[in-house]
Amino acid sequence: MHIVYYCRHCKSFLGSIDSSTISLEALGLTSLTEQEISDIIEYHDEDQTTYVKTVCEYCETALKQNPALYLTNSPIQ
Ligand SMILES: [Zn+2]
Repeated sequence: MHIVYYCRHCKSFLGSIDSSTISLEALGLTSLTEQEISDIIEYHDEDQTTYVKTVCEYCETALKQNPALYLTNSPIQ
């Protein structure tokens, strides 16, 4: 399985993992609810890649300094 992490705000690539044995435990996602998991994880059949939406350091800092950014820039799907 190929897993790609990217920032949900600026869409920058943050890293990737290749593993045949990766699990939710390994990703540190077991504390999330099913709703949260389906919100941050997207599986794309065509390239057999799992995309994990997270927040990069830059956006995290920006959001901490100005939480209103989160409301205005957060895409509504
Ligand atoms: Zn970002």
